[in-house]
Amino acid sequence: MQSDIIPTGIEVSNGDQVLEIEWSDGHHSEYSLFGLRKNCPCVMCRGGHGNMNTFDRSLFFVEPTQHFEIEDIKQIGNHAIKIFWSDGHNNGMYQWDTLRDMCPCEECYPEQE
Ligand SMILES: [Zn+2]
Ligand SMILES: [Zn+2]
Repeated sequence: MQSDIIPTGIEVSNGDQVLEIEWSDGHHSEYSLFGLRKNCPCVMCRGGHGNMNTFDRSLFFVEPTQHFEIEDIKQIGNHAIKIFWSDGHNNGMYQWDTLRDMCPCEECYPEQE
């Protein structure tokens, strides 16, 4: 894992429906809020403990069927953030490793159309 790589900046734009992360290794990630919300890593959204830390990167490329906004972000220790969504959901702890693994950029996810 790349646990020594951490975000140096996190920026949310509800208007553009994206969350952007600058990483300590210089990498830049841009996540659609829809994909991020749908990939919420909490037990409830994953449908059970067996599915923890699974995610579907194609969700970042689909046409959003729902509008989500981020109301707040809180850092958890030095390894994760908790996202407070406009739909009231806030159980998901997004770990740095998971977020980095999810990165939908061309370099990290060359299979994208
Ligand atoms: Zn969730
Ligand atoms: Zn990337």
